[in-house]
Parts: sequence; C-alpha cells; structure tokens
Amino acid sequence: MNKPQPYTGLNLQLIAGSWTEGRSGRSMTVSNPYTQQPLLEIPLANKDDLNQAYKMAFEAQIAWAALGPSARASVMLRAAQIFDERHEELVDWIIAESGSTRVKAEIEWASAKAITLEAASFPSRVHGRIVESDVPNKESRVYRRPLGVVGVISPWNFPFHLTQRSLAPALALGNAVVVKPASDTPVTGGLLLARIFEEAGLPAGVLSVVVGSGAEIGDDFVLHPVPSFISFTGSTPVGQNIARQASSGEHLKHVALELGGNNPFVVLADADLEQAVHAAVVGKFLHQGQICMAINRIIVEDSIYDSFATRFIDRVSNLVVGDPNDPKTAVGPVINQKQFNGLSQKVEQAKREGAQLSYAGESRGLVFAPHVFTEVKPEMELAYEEIFGPIAGLIRARDAEHALELANATHFGLSAAVFSGDLERGVQFARRIHSGMAHVNDIPVGDAPNVPFGGEKNSGLGRFNGDWAIDEFTTTQWVSLQREPRHYPF
Ligand code: NAP
Ligand code: MG
Repeated sequence: MNKPQPYTGLNLQLIAGSWTEGRSGRSMTVSNPYTQQPLLEIPLANKDDLNQAYKMAFEAQIAWAALGPSARASVMLRAAQIFDERHEELVDWIIAESGSTRVKAEIEWASAKAITLEAASFPSRVHGRIVESDVPNKESRVYRRPLGVVGVISPWNFPFHLTQRSLAPALALGNAVVVKPASDTPVTGGLLLARIFEEAGLPAGVLSVVVGSGAEIGDDFVLHPVPSFISFTGSTPVGQNIARQASSGEHLKHVALELGGNNPFVVLADADLEQAVHAAVVGKFLHQGQICMAINRIIVEDSIYDSFATRFIDRVSNLVVGDPNDPKTAVGPVINQKQFNGLSQKVEQAKREGAQLSYAGESRGLVFAPHVFTEVKPEMELAYEEIFGPIAGLIRARDAEHALELANATHFGLSAAVFSGDLERGVQFARRIHSGMAHVNDIPVGDAPNVPFGGEKNSGLGRFNGDWAIDEFTTTQWVSLQREPRHYPF
C-alpha cells in the first residue's frame, strides 16, 4: 500500500465546497495538551461562512440523496479504506491534538472506522412500508427519506469518533451535513474527516466544517433555518440549552442529545475481585477519565470493600502516567488548563466534604495524576457530579439492594456496569439500573456500530448506531393513494 502524502492546509475549513480561511478576522491556536506547543493557527469562521455552508448544503443535498444506494455506500467504503491508508497519520493527530494515549487513539480510530463501515450498509437498509387501510380501495404507503440538512456539534474528548458517529450515518442516508467541532479539537473533530470524505468522492457542498467557538456561533448554528435536525454530543447544560433553542425559535427542529454521565460501577460480594479491580481501573482511567461513559462512582458491597480498595489502589499506583505517545502510558494529559483547574477544585472539595484521599500521584504540566478517594458518600460532589477526569471515588454499600439504590441515585443515566459471579444475577441487576446501557462483568465504556448507544434522564435523547441511527437520521412520510373514487359522508 502506497503511503499517501499527509494532509496539509488544515488551517483551512471546508465551507460550501471550497477550502478557505474563516472570515471572522480572529484566529484560534490549536495546541498539544502534553507538550503545550502550538500545532496550528486557524482563522475562525463567522456567521456569513456558516450561512454559506448551510445554503450550499441545502442545494447539494438534493442530488446527493438522489444517488442510488450503492453510490452513497461506495463513498463510505472508500472513506473506510482511507482510514486504513492513513492510519498512522490519523492516530498521530488524535494523540497530538486531544492528548489521547496511543491506546485510546487506536480505539478511537477503530471505532470511527467501524461506524463508517456500518454506515455503508445503511443506504440499502432503509425500508418503506405498505400498511392496511380501513378505507376501501386505499393504499397507505410509508416512505422513509432523509431529513435534509443535519447540523453536528461534537466535543473534544473523542472528537474523531464522536463526529463520525453522526456524520457517516447522516451522509450515508442521503443528508447533507455541517459540522461544528469543539474548539480544542477542530482537526480531529472535523477537518480531517472533511479531507477524507473529499478524497472519498463526496460531492462538493454536501459536507462543510465550520470552525468557530460555541459561545460565538453556537446559537446561529442551531437557529439557522436550514438544518432540520441538530445532533449534539457534549455537556448536559449546553445540550439542554440547544434543546430549548431548537423548540423555541421560528423553526422547530428535532434534536438528538448525547450528554454527560454519572456512571456507576457496582461490585457485588460474589464478584471475581481481581477481574473487577482490573476493569474498574481501566473503566475509570482510560483517556484520563474524560469519557462520558467512564466510571464515576465505584460502589462496592461492604463485605469486600476493604480488600477491593487495597487492590484498586495498588493497581492505580502502578499505572504509567505521562507521555501519551509512549505506548505503555495509561494516563496522559487532560485537555486544557481549565479542565485541570476544575479537577484540582474537585479534589479540594472532596477533602473538605470528608472523603478520604487514599492515593494521589504527582501531577505535571497538564498531566493530572490519578487520585483515589475512599469513603465517598452519595451527597458528596464527587458522587453526584460528573468528574470527567482521573479521580476515582469508592462508595460503600451495605448490600446488593443498597448498591442498586445508590447506583440509581443520579439525574444521569448513560451507562453502568455490575460485577457478579452469577451472570444471570448480574443481568437482572443491570436491568434494574436506569441507564441506556449496562454491562455485566465489563467496563461501562463501550460502543459498537450495531448496538443502540444513548442515555436516559439527563444523559440525553435518542440513540446512535445500527437501525436506531437509521431511524434518527431519516424521517417518514405517509402517502396514501385512493384507487377508486371514495364515498364521502356529505
Ligand atoms: P461542551 O462544552 O458542551 O462542548 C461540546 C460542543 O458544544 C463543543 O463543540 C462546543 O464548542 C459546543 N458548544 C459550546 N457552547 C455552545 C452553544 N452555546 N451552542 C452550541 N454549541 C456550543 O462539552 P465539552 O466540555 O466539550 O465535553 C465534555 C462533556 O461532553 C461531558 O459532559 C461529557 O460527558 C459529554 N460527552 C458526552 C458524550 C456522549 O456520547 N453522551 C460523549 C462525549 C462527551 P466549543 O468547544 O467551541 O465551546
Ligand atoms: Mg467546552
């Protein structure tokens, strides 16, 4: 396989079919969280750029949707092939821009490729229906069609995958898309994907990537009359605001929201302790805990709590912390100084509230070292708020029923995990957790292109992947046809 030339010109944005500088007159520095060195300077988009992107998307979508299923599928398949050809280049960008460890960057690359391949099957999986009618000689047909133009807003933690998870299905199903990546990760959250789809033969204008700050262009991005659907992944407060806007403006819009989590990891007394400890460490510290599905509360039954805590701390103290480029590193830097400061405050708050700081590594630069608190109580901030960082909190449960009660004592409901030596008991326990996803004897962090991914309660609305994405990124139209003149009542 010939290695292609790495993409250049990543300071430009793909707006309405051409690579151009944003016209706001201001620019943004993208930097490497580990070295804290600048990577790129990107001139930011303004409202005119956004407007141009949406207008062209509106026009380009019609011809794109009219292409047959195999033409759209082949763009997806070609994109997946480019993922392979540019594997190293893409993984290196994920490490450099978002501070991902090599392990995490590989997972992210593989997840993004997997949803691209899954999306290649979507064009031939969209089915209409014919349904029965009580009216004589009437036929009722249900057509499924693209939504039109979709706006995608993505976060910085898994930017490449979380953008692609909306983008690939939306495109495959005949929509045009405008992406707004997070300000910390414009390259992996959008610009690289735009280069890939362009190289894969996606017609000009069907995809635009607009780089600008959420605070500045976010409202216009959502309220613009063109997009009929906003697919948002990010924090709960911003998501709630988007949902309000989408239903309050002049134009009603559908939204899908993938928001924060407060995911419980429950260890029942009959669990394999070593396996549970190992999983807890991975589920907590993968990507420095900056994953919506990361473990937020470790809930352990009283009879095994102390031995779990000892083994957990032992494993945490042996984690390799530091340079994300080093394949042995488990914990790299957090995304930026603001997140780092927020985590320091969480540590102070936990101490003030009386949690016991049982382990603290040494932080350096933006590498926030792992911290472990024991004797965390449900009313402490560490338990009721999303941590989104490498701080673990262990909560003691009296028994299994108490563990369940604690697990459900949250306004979030994204993912969950339970460890038990009895698999069926684990499944029945998992089914009583109010979350969109729950895993028995595994970490709560998991995504696959063919399973329904999404949350309950304040963790969001809607589902990704497989048939669920087909529902999400299309709409239905009922068309009836009266074969013989109908008898009306007057
Ligand atoms: P965030 O602040 O909500 O940002 C997410 C995206 O929204 C960014 O692109 C951001 O742009 C944009 N944004 C900010 N303000 C906006 C506004 N007023 N209007 C429109 N867009 C706006 O979240 P984050 O800090 O990047 O990510 C962390 C959060 O995301 C965590 O809570 C995590 O749990 C959640 N998350 C959820 C999932 C999931 O699948 N459920 C996955 C990953 C992350 P700027 O960067 O320019 O501000
Ligand atoms: Mg943010």
